[in-house]
Amino acid sequence: MSEAEAAGGEAASTEPMSPEEFRRWGYALVDWIARYRTEVEQYPVRSRVLPGEIRAALPPHPPEAPEPFDRILSDVDRVIMPGITHWQSPNFFAYFPCNNSEPSILGELLSAGLGVQGMLWSTSPACTELETHMLDWLVEMLDLPRTFLSTGEGGGVIQDTASSAALCALLAARERVTSGEGNRLGTHGNLVAYTSDQAHSSIEKAVRAAGTGSDQLRLVSTDAAFAMDPAALSRVIETDRAAGRIPFFVSATVGTTSSNAMDPLPEIGEVCRRNGVWLHVDAAMSGPAALCPEFRWIHRGLEFADSYCFNPHKWMAVNFDCDCFYVQRRADLISALSILPEYLRNAASETGAVIDYRDWQIPLGRRFRALKLWFVIRTYGVEGLRAMIRRHVSLAQELAARIEAHPLLELAADTPLNLVCFRHSHGDSATQAILDGINAEGRAFLTHTRLQDRLVIRVSVGQTHTERRHVDALWEGICRWATGPTANA
Ligand code: PLP
Repeated sequence: MSEAEAAGGEAASTEPMSPEEFRRWGYALVDWIARYRTEVEQYPVRSRVLPGEIRAALPPHPPEAPEPFDRILSDVDRVIMPGITHWQSPNFFAYFPCNNSEPSILGELLSAGLGVQGMLWSTSPACTELETHMLDWLVEMLDLPRTFLSTGEGGGVIQDTASSAALCALLAARERVTSGEGNRLGTHGNLVAYTSDQAHSSIEKAVRAAGTGSDQLRLVSTDAAFAMDPAALSRVIETDRAAGRIPFFVSATVGTTSSNAMDPLPEIGEVCRRNGVWLHVDAAMSGPAALCPEFRWIHRGLEFADSYCFNPHKWMAVNFDCDCFYVQRRADLISALSILPEYLRNAASETGAVIDYRDWQIPLGRRFRALKLWFVIRTYGVEGLRAMIRRHVSLAQELAARIEAHPLLELAADTPLNLVCFRHSHGDSATQAILDGINAEGRAFLTHTRLQDRLVIRVSVGQTHTERRHVDALWEGICRWATGPTANA
């Protein structure tokens, strides 16, 4: 008998939410999300709250007593929504996109509902096997080198982000070049890594996190198109070798963050092969373009890569987080990351016939992320995903052509896919005025970079529901702000 019953009162429910209530609030929340997604384009894209404003609207202390769920949901509208930047708005052109879709959201919901922790095959065989299968499907969908298939010596795994993929690749490369000593003896002061001066900051972070140290990372120079210069890479590797250092890791980028530049993989691959250096290819944003045969040129030379990653959570309608990471030889990765404590030993793993993905990543635990990939790929079909990519690329190319034809604007880089980089021909302050003007209006959201030390506006066309009318509206704003503040008075 509970204390309440002993005291003659009614027994308090031990369930804060009964199955019936869960069903009711679940429907209500799905309704809320569906409405949000149809209305999202009406909101100012960027949150306008000031630092601390959201916390100030929250109670200073946690509730002692249970609260009704409708009150919590109404606080989502009252407290949370003002602090949301609407990444799913079709008017979101900032950074790189983080696009999602209805089937993906349902996949995420099912993953939470099943609550599986898939660290080992034996902790939920479907979690591992669906993931292996999806990663193999994606090799076919993107026409990646077949050496990445799990049926040979390679294989793919879902990482949270491209940053984690880069770190895992670097650790595998370190173990390969030191024959395991890196793990046992710690930092190797002589190891040197290479990437271009346009690579994403996650490569430097990986080098720091692995203990290689950023002084041991060389930023190789780039050409006029912001792509890594393979001759410069070769020279710097030779210089390091001559000085007794050990080149061990090169990260090339397919679609750099600032300008969407494509590093020349065949030439970089030759340099790596000649020098016995691990080649990682980071196609975080641009990889999904290879769903379309006409864009598969971006992966020319990928057969040289020891590892490769791209992010369905950027441009394949799969919600964050979902990075697909492949290796040519899974033994390299597993020998870098596998540690087997007694409490994880199990019969299935001992047979060697199953994959334990805990050995392919930094954390032990992992969610059932393959569900959202499965739901998206089946709901869209490869055809539907291709149509989205093609729409984004053609909208970006049209915008680039308009910019090129405008008397006051100029392109700051080529537009190989869906990122348009431009500036005002009168210089940085005129460029800044366009950026500030558009962002202050709030109907669209743009971000910037610097190329050749000049301010550049980036227009990244990649939201799931971005259509011509959204880019047209953005173009109207760009033209208005390009002609100066008087035009906007
Ligand atoms: N690599 C490139 C080329 C990127 O553009 C980005 C992010 O925009 C990243 C890596 C890092 O992505 P993630 O957030 O998945 O670590």
